[in-house]
Amino acid sequence: MEKAQNEKAAETKPEVVEEEEPPSKLPQIRNRIAFKPIPEPQAEKDKPKISPKSLDFLQKHFPTATEKEWCSWQWQLRNSYTDLHQLQQILHLSDNEVKPLQGITNSLPIRITPYYASLIDPENPEQPIRRSVIPVFDEFIVSKGERSDPLYEEHDSPVPNIVHRYPDRVLFLVTGFCSTYCRYCTRSHMVAKDKCHIGVKAWEPALQYIENTPSVRDVLISGGDPLTMPDLNIAFLLNRLHKIPHVEMIRIGTKVPAVLPQRITRPLINILKRYHPLYLSIHFTHPDELTPEVRETCEQLANAGIPLGSQTVLLKGVNDDVETMKMLMHGLLRIRVRPYYLYQCDPILGSSHFRTPVSKGIEIIEGLRGHTTGYAVPQYVIDAPGGGGKIPILPEYYLGKNDDHILLRNYENRHFEYPDACTTPSE
Ligand code: SF4
Repeated sequence: MEKAQNEKAAETKPEVVEEEEPPSKLPQIRNRIAFKPIPEPQAEKDKPKISPKSLDFLQKHFPTATEKEWCSWQWQLRNSYTDLHQLQQILHLSDNEVKPLQGITNSLPIRITPYYASLIDPENPEQPIRRSVIPVFDEFIVSKGERSDPLYEEHDSPVPNIVHRYPDRVLFLVTGFCSTYCRYCTRSHMVAKDKCHIGVKAWEPALQYIENTPSVRDVLISGGDPLTMPDLNIAFLLNRLHKIPHVEMIRIGTKVPAVLPQRITRPLINILKRYHPLYLSIHFTHPDELTPEVRETCEQLANAGIPLGSQTVLLKGVNDDVETMKMLMHGLLRIRVRPYYLYQCDPILGSSHFRTPVSKGIEIIEGLRGHTTGYAVPQYVIDAPGGGGKIPILPEYYLGKNDDHILLRNYENRHFEYPDACTTPSE
């Protein structure tokens, strides 16, 4: 009801006119500034935008493909790298990386878009982007406490495709497909498997569950990667969810803007912007992902009024130091993405080579908080194994209580007292 009223109000609200601006020096300034937008030359507008590194890769590995094809997301999906033979054509696989003909297979398949592959260093197996998508032998070492579904999502699933763990929101897993598979994926037990029921008919029980559960005011659409689906499926889902009176907001969790920015087309943006309030949580891993293509994609989404947040998994040897994380968070803010969550890596099977001690995450947050803008500090959380949900982890800033004062320390480790509730009147 509230949503309907808001919509009505938005429809009837008159456009802001110049006279409504507060009195200021604006008219004088206007006289001196030409506000006419500078049009982009038509030729420049139509030119596919490919950064030099990706262009080199295209010319070297897809000599017959055109730049226009490279910029098509369907072409990117069709030409993705899906096996070790193909990867061997573009990389020198190291001793620790799995090679073809070794007869070893992991339950998480390989899939990397040509665009994302173009960001990989072919010679350096330690390069962060390479480590996050190329399978290594460490994945076959199962350590204590690791599970295929450590978050127990399957236990909290009242109907297929829905995880209902928190009181007012649900996770709606709409596909098991991603354009690029991350080797540390929390949902490696379900992505690329036939566990996830996909398609308009298969979603029906989940949609009915949401319709029949008035406490659900927030739906997070995830997977897999929902933005790998055709426009029509995305529009169908958003339309159905938006019509439910108690669903106040919709969120989409995706890595597409980072690994397949070509997918963020004008028609897709036109669909997304019809269903506000719609939030996008984008999975970013390392500053090397922040290419000109990604910047442009995020700017287009932000210009459509879609609030963008980031989610990052803390990964050993990939992004586990303050400088890298600061660079990533600053870079995200520059492209209008607000850092949202920093996740402790979940203990999926074969993840010990990716997992850092929790003290590392605390050290990173301590290295950000106070040292840079609060907008650049994500919430560091552990998704509690066994289905406990996200638990925030913070450095110790609260040191205890002394009579009527609480004791605090700041980012420089200086100590302060704050007068707690004023129970004793001052004399
Ligand atoms: S994009 Fe997300 S769901 Fe897909 S493989 Fe990576 S972490 Fe898993």
